[in-house]
Amino acid sequence: MMHSASLEVNATSKHGLDYIVSEGQEPPVEIPGDVFDRQRVMKDFHQSLIEKQCVFVLGVGGIGSSIAMCLVRMGVDTIHLFDRDYIEASNLNRQILFSVGDIGRSKVETAAQHLKEIHNLRTNIYHYHIDAVKNWSCVVDIAKKSTVIFNNIDYGAVFDYAINSLCKSLGIIYVSGSTYANNIDINLYSGLLNDPCWACGNLTNDSFKFTNQELENFNDISSFLKEKCYISGEKFESIIEECLNELNIVSPSRSQFSTLFMPLYQKKVLELLLPQSIENFQSIEFIPKDRSFPTRTVGSWIGVCVSGSCLIVNTWVQYLIKNRNLTFDMNKSFHNWMQINLSMFDGGYYTTGFPNQQDLNCPICSNVKQIAERNS
Ligand SMILES: [Zn+2]
Repeated sequence: MMHSASLEVNATSKHGLDYIVSEGQEPPVEIPGDVFDRQRVMKDFHQSLIEKQCVFVLGVGGIGSSIAMCLVRMGVDTIHLFDRDYIEASNLNRQILFSVGDIGRSKVETAAQHLKEIHNLRTNIYHYHIDAVKNWSCVVDIAKKSTVIFNNIDYGAVFDYAINSLCKSLGIIYVSGSTYANNIDINLYSGLLNDPCWACGNLTNDSFKFTNQELENFNDISSFLKEKCYISGEKFESIIEECLNELNIVSPSRSQFSTLFMPLYQKKVLELLLPQSIENFQSIEFIPKDRSFPTRTVGSWIGVCVSGSCLIVNTWVQYLIKNRNLTFDMNKSFHNWMQINLSMFDGGYYTTGFPNQQDLNCPICSNVKQIAERNS
């Protein structure tokens, strides 16, 4: 049995290793105890590139916990884990870093502990039991030190819009993945000036709309928004006031609220979240949380979470490697959206995907270009 002292967890820098073996070629002599040897021999896999990555994982639930496990097993330099939740019994069928004895504990603290005990080989692991919406400035600080953000927080479209804007502003990669029932969605956005972003192909309109049934309880704007979509904070009160002043309404009726007030509120919120100001907020509690979440209504299981997480990490790795190898055809768009359905296990996966193009009217992309022009 090999003694742990003989393990070479940092052989990459110590021995200047980054070997890649093509088919039919003999691999170089293995350094005894090198934990990443099997990655080094893989065609096109650059271990030294992986070891330079500082990854930011937002949310360590079904997807986030498996993503974190993959990333530390690969040997990234640093991982920052963010989550505000506590472990519940219903998480345990699929959230692989938690066990029965962990119910009630902080997700992120438990995830960090189990990663260190079982999975970690060389990675610096940091965890923050923090609400990303309320402590936006912490998200910004960590994003500035990161090369990629994996966003696995189910807060809704406006939160995704904000994270996307931050990534585009910093020019870092944005990976968002979600799984539900048997479906896996994977998105990767490079963060580069001329590449598409999340907002090129997604809208936030539904986050600012309410059903007639929801509107039955409408009385006062502030308490309605607090109750329905967790909007709060000082900034929120001042945006409400601005909207009412501009609309010249003191106390809107139910129909004025949904047809006049909310569209203006949406416009103002999205403007605040543009790259030019996205790094400046202490909190972004003025954004709405989406009302419906799929897990309880459609279910989830270990198969979709673990395979989905591996595919999400794989999409990021393939992107890094393609750029590094310069075999990447820059005229061909990266397929940054794909959907896989595991229930189609009849000999082939069902996949759909398309290369996304930058939308010339995208507010985020246009804003980043304006900033770049101003600075050049
Ligand atoms: Zn865009």
